[in-house]
Amino acid sequence: MLGFQASQRLRPLWLSTHLRSHNSRHVTRNCCFTGVRRKLHACVVGSGPAGFYTVQHLLKNNKEIRVDLYERLPVPFGLVRFGVAPDHPDVKNVINSFTQTAHSERFTFCGNVMVGRDVMVSDLQEAYDAVVLSYGAEDDQLLRIPGEQLPGVYSARAIVGWYNGLPENKDLMPDLNVETAVVLGQGNVALDLARILLTPVDLLRKTDITGAALDAIAESKIKRIFVVGRRGPLQVAFTIKELREMVNLQGVRTVLNPSDFEGIERVLLENIPRPRRRLTELLLKSTPQGSAGCVGHREWGLLFHRSPVQILPTADGERVGGIHFQLNKLEASGDTMKAVPTGNSEDMPCGLVLRSIGYRSLPLDPDVPFDKRRGVIPNNRGRVEGRAGLYCSGWVKRGPQGVIATTMNDSFETGEAVLEDISNRSASPQAGFESIRPKLASRGVQVVSFGDWTRIDRVEQERGLKLDKPREKILDVQEMLTHASG
Ligand code: FAD
Repeated sequence: MLGFQASQRLRPLWLSTHLRSHNSRHVTRNCCFTGVRRKLHACVVGSGPAGFYTVQHLLKNNKEIRVDLYERLPVPFGLVRFGVAPDHPDVKNVINSFTQTAHSERFTFCGNVMVGRDVMVSDLQEAYDAVVLSYGAEDDQLLRIPGEQLPGVYSARAIVGWYNGLPENKDLMPDLNVETAVVLGQGNVALDLARILLTPVDLLRKTDITGAALDAIAESKIKRIFVVGRRGPLQVAFTIKELREMVNLQGVRTVLNPSDFEGIERVLLENIPRPRRRLTELLLKSTPQGSAGCVGHREWGLLFHRSPVQILPTADGERVGGIHFQLNKLEASGDTMKAVPTGNSEDMPCGLVLRSIGYRSLPLDPDVPFDKRRGVIPNNRGRVEGRAGLYCSGWVKRGPQGVIATTMNDSFETGEAVLEDISNRSASPQAGFESIRPKLASRGVQVVSFGDWTRIDRVEQERGLKLDKPREKILDVQEMLTHASG
């Protein structure tokens, strides 16, 4: 990271813009002493969908408010950039609407600022009328079984970060020189992983997947991927779009065991929700008796009723050689079906294990309440419990589940809570970023503005153009900062 002196030298464009906006705000604030309403000032921490949708709601519904958005990375958009699969460009179109929001003159992007390290939440609360925490879920769940640390076992989060260019995962380089991979977990992220690893490389080449991941996948020896769950076909967590993509994947055969589907047709006669019915029908069609699915030299399959109890090493103990599974049956437990051990077990050889059992939020700052069991900030419709003026939205508010649309709705709910409270609060001028800037400067933090981001964006797009892909992502934070400063 550049030191303070360097960042002073490099700052002119964004800082002069910022100072201009602060001067004009100063005039407005003086007005409050002459009876004119002062401008409100809020900040949001985290620039993923939750952060941007919260900002959108605030700016749209209160024409007096200014919002500053703090982001730990020099680049915005959270999991839209670093999570959503590269072959799903349509999903990434939300970036257009976020970019439009960022062009508001009442908005400031403060990238490359890690809240909880570079600046504390208490500092932000002193500087703003309202502080919204939207920092997502940046850790992953562990299996907590022996062998989990063996080379060849990776979290979904790390692999997704690697192929999507997340700086901290740029050097991961998973060994794909194996024939069988197992993904543990049966959600959409699990299918994303299986699909990206099995998609013909010429199709991936046209996406914004990183060059290093593309090279590794081109050299991959993976012939089959099993996606394994604790329960049965009626409990899978993925959705039909992702299943359809797997079933139709070019050159890849779907392998399902018909015995896993015994009795399922009977269930379909019952009153089950339509999305679950359609998903199950597609699964049934994809069994050997069904009609869907491709032929191919590689294969993927779903395995049910299995819980991993140990990751087994190779004979030399150097890396993963297989998984020891406990076999399960289902028992009704309230409204859900619970997996209970049958007493039987099975060993499955494999050379790569991808753990896709969920993301997890972490506490940000000792000052902010955190429910460690649920992995969320305790809140009431976005109002952090026991902390006036502090709010949360997105995955850190309701847990790491749900798509971008779900995140949008809960961010609007939080935005509404902020606006309700803020309009009732007595006015005392809040300095916003103006009072945070010296703290960041003294720590040598090079703050990245939205204008700086557009410079990084341009470089990535130009590099992408040469490779006939939408962008070639920059993987290194220092390189991002160099391009940010022009
Ligand atoms: P995030 O998107 O994670 O954003 C959090 C932001 O906070 C990040 O930018 C992070 O850098 C920043 N941050 C973290 N800590 C700090 C800090 N201390 N200081 C400052 N900033 C900080 N949904 C779909 O609709 N379609 C899909 O195809 C899809 N694919 C997905 C694929 C994967 C692998 C995953 C994990 C999720 C996917 N989702 C998809 C779900 C979607 O990404 C989430 O609903 C959404 O991103 C949650 O938004 P968020 O803002 O809460 O979290």
